[in-house]
Amino acid sequence: MKNFNLKFKNKNFWIFDLDNTLYDASSGIFKKIDIRMTEFISKKIRVTRDEAYIIQKQLYKKYGTTLFGLIKGHSIDPFEFLEYVHNVSLKNIKKSKKLKDFIKQLPGNKFIFTNGDEKWARKIINALGIQDSIDEVFDIIKANFVPKPQLKTYDNFLRKFNINPQESVFFEDTERNLKYANSLGITTVLIDEELKNKKLKSFVDFRFKCIKTALEIISKNLNNY
Ligand SMILES: [Mg+2]
Repeated sequence: MKNFNLKFKNKNFWIFDLDNTLYDASSGIFKKIDIRMTEFISKKIRVTRDEAYIIQKQLYKKYGTTLFGLIKGHSIDPFEFLEYVHNVSLKNIKKSKKLKDFIKQLPGNKFIFTNGDEKWARKIINALGIQDSIDEVFDIIKANFVPKPQLKTYDNFLRKFNINPQESVFFEDTERNLKYANSLGITTVLIDEELKNKKLKSFVDFRFKCIKTALEIISKNLNNY
């Protein structure tokens, strides 16, 4: 176990991924978005659902997001895509005072750093009731549609808000998105509800089952100095 106190002490920038990080994967919300992506591709490129699914996953793997691959290879209108795929119910997301308070009491600034768009992020933030705890949202539109894990998007994000990586903590459910962050000196926290990755990669500092557990333990530690 890495030195817990050392990795969370003197941090002033708290960076959160959105989907499957700030809300649990078991809510099924991202699964629904995923299905709508397949639908969208099937309609736009005129292929069967099965073919669309294969294309979707290939693009995701190659480009970081399905959307970036669609822009690059299929001239898709990104705004139409974002609108379509995020047309899902948020009824499984409940307001959480706990989450709001945990984030709020962390020292310094709080960011959402997402491969989704800000409109979607705001809906989630509002549904969770954490709008007063988040300072800035850096979305895929601000990133010119270049997604994590592409390095220049991290550089743009950090530069835009004058973020010192050494004073930062990043929470993510997508393991590969933590790699470059770690190389910059950011403390990396993997949110992994099913604990599906048996062995932790060297670029993952800590792993928790959900964001609330992570923040509860971090807060307790910070308060014990
Ligand atoms: Mg995510």
